[in-house]
Order: sequence, then C-alpha cells, then structure tokens
Amino acid sequence: MKYIDEYRDKELIMKLADRIASAVKRDYTFMEVCGGHTAAIHRFGIPSLLPENIRLISGPGCPVCVTDTGFIDKAIAYSQKEDVIITTFGDLIRVPGSASSLEKQKAAGADVRIIFSGLEALEIAKTNPRKKIIFLGIGFETTAPGTAVTIKQAEKENINNFFVLSAHKIMPPAMEEIVKGGTNLDGFICPGHVAAITGSSIFNFLPEKYNLGCVVTGFEPTDLLQSVLLLTEQANRNEPKVEIQYNRVVTVNGNIKAQRHLNDVFETCDAYWRGFGIIQSSGLTPGKNFERFNAEINMPVEAGKHDENEMCICGEILRGLKEPGECPLFADICTPENPVGACMVSGEGSCNTWYKYRRQDE
Ligand code: SF4
Repeated sequence: MKYIDEYRDKELIMKLADRIASAVKRDYTFMEVCGGHTAAIHRFGIPSLLPENIRLISGPGCPVCVTDTGFIDKAIAYSQKEDVIITTFGDLIRVPGSASSLEKQKAAGADVRIIFSGLEALEIAKTNPRKKIIFLGIGFETTAPGTAVTIKQAEKENINNFFVLSAHKIMPPAMEEIVKGGTNLDGFICPGHVAAITGSSIFNFLPEKYNLGCVVTGFEPTDLLQSVLLLTEQANRNEPKVEIQYNRVVTVNGNIKAQRHLNDVFETCDAYWRGFGIIQSSGLTPGKNFERFNAEINMPVEAGKHDENEMCICGEILRGLKEPGECPLFADICTPENPVGACMVSGEGSCNTWYKYRRQDE
C-alpha cells in the first residue's frame, strides 16, 4: 500500500494540477493508446483536474476492442468443430461476432475454456490428446511474448494438438495510421506496458517524422498528471521528443529477453484493426519455423462475410474521432451486461470505462 499511496498522494496530485494550469497557453489534445490508461484516467477523474483547454482522447489501445468481428467469427467457426477446444482470456468470449459470441456458443455446448496463461492451454492439450486445442492470441507487444514462450514450450514438448489463432498486433503502425494524413493531436500518452517490453525507442518516429511529443506513462494519478505536464511543456516549447515518465519500469531499450522470444517465434503480417481496416505489417503471426502451430494454416475455416452493427461507433472511438457518449446506443441499449460492440466489453474499453465513471456526465 505504501507504494501505491506514494503515487496517489492528494497534495502531490493538487500540486501537479496547479502546475498544469499554470503551463497552459492554448488548446491541447493528447491521445492515450493504452486501455489501461483509458481506465485509469477516468477512474481517477483526471479530466476533472485539468483545465478545460486540455482534452484527453482515447485511441486504439484496448486489445479486445481492436480485435475485429472477422476474428471472432473465425473463432466461433472453430468452436463449432467437434474435435476443437477453444482456450481464451476472459473478455474475448463476450465480444459480439456477426451473429453470435463465444459465450453464446459455450452456452450452446461448444467447448470454450477461459484460461489465465497460454501454458494452461498446453496443459489442456496434454490431457486431451484426441482434441485440437486452439489458443486465441490477442494483445500487443505486452502479451505476445507470453504466446511466443507458449509456442516454444509446445515445440520443446512436441505437443502436436496445440494451435494458435493469432490476432496479436504491434502498436507503432496504428499510431502512424492516426497521424500520417495530418492530425490535431499535440502528443501521445504512450503505453507503459508495451514500452516495458519494446523500450521507449519504438516511439522515436513520432517526434522525428511527425513533430509530435511522446511521454511513456505509468498508471497512477501522479503518473498521468506528470505526463500531461511534460507533454504540455513539450508542446509549448515546440520541442517534441520521447520522454519516459514511467522510469520505474521502462527503459529506452526495453526487455531484450522478451523481445528475443517475440522475434524468434513471430513475423509481422498485415492485420485488420477494428475501425482502421487493414494496417500493413501491424500483426504478428507464427513465422516459418513455427508454422505447425498456426491454426489458420493447419486447419483453415471459412467464417463467411462478417457484419458490424451499423449503429455502433466503436471504429470512430478507436480512431479518436468520437467519444462513447456520442453513440446513440450508449448506456441505453448497449451496456456491460448486454454489449453491442467490443468497446463495451473489456474493462479497458472506452465505452465500458465511460459507462462506469462518466455515465452521469452524458
Ligand atoms: Fe459500440 Fe456500444 Fe460503444 Fe456504442 S456504446 S460504440 S454500440 S460499444
């Protein structure tokens, strides 16, 4: 508790808020691209501590939210096979596909199991040798090393009934997609957990190529406020650079061991992001040496044409163009109990977060 108290100290929070208020000279818009930041910003009421001319908007930082309907439909198609067990982290099973969800398939009898690590999926594979175990790999650079280690372990133990359906993605191409055609953003609150793996240097292209400030940020209120202050000061000086606020966890070069696992197992591929469509070289798929664990290569399925709910504006929210309150279904038809879109499912999704902490504002 002492550790957390240090970063939630009320006096320090108010001092930072005062320093931000003194630093502002114009309007600023900063984007966070981490679902953990979205949740923390609203949970701690950060917007209420900022001057009106600082706006924080959310980008494509929630892994469940950016996973597209086509992936869910494909996972559902696999779950309908008699000899398949689907293993997945919890949130994903509630994301609506075109016509169903993994949760509904499970209720109808499909073998869909929630696990807490990829290694659990390997145990299920070992105890069910007649079944094919498909692990749904989602998440950014933060979770992909865990999947890489699981695949390596499957190879080491010569487990032949374990496969990965990968929707793993990397963050920089999506950030570039947001800014490459011009942007109103003044900087990024960069994802602390992603940078713990990759190092802060993956964001260098943003100041160098797009003149945008970046601060790699932690998840406590003082972290978030200090980052807003640093971004505001960078914008005032027009000296954008990559700064590490979250220096108790993040370094410039990151976790070399985790990067090695990632590079050993995965290669980049074009990937579909909800709200963006296909972004070149933004996905991770098992490379040549590990193809035998790739579900799509070894047991291809047809998932049919996927449909999105036309009223759901998740795509625009993930691109930072709209806020959840602008969705006509928000909090009325679409709720965490009955999510219409992916952004209402995950605790890191913008709509879910707004439902919990900002509903009264709407
Ligand atoms: Fe989609 Fe629901 Fe969010 Fe609207 S409130 S954008 S329907 S997830």
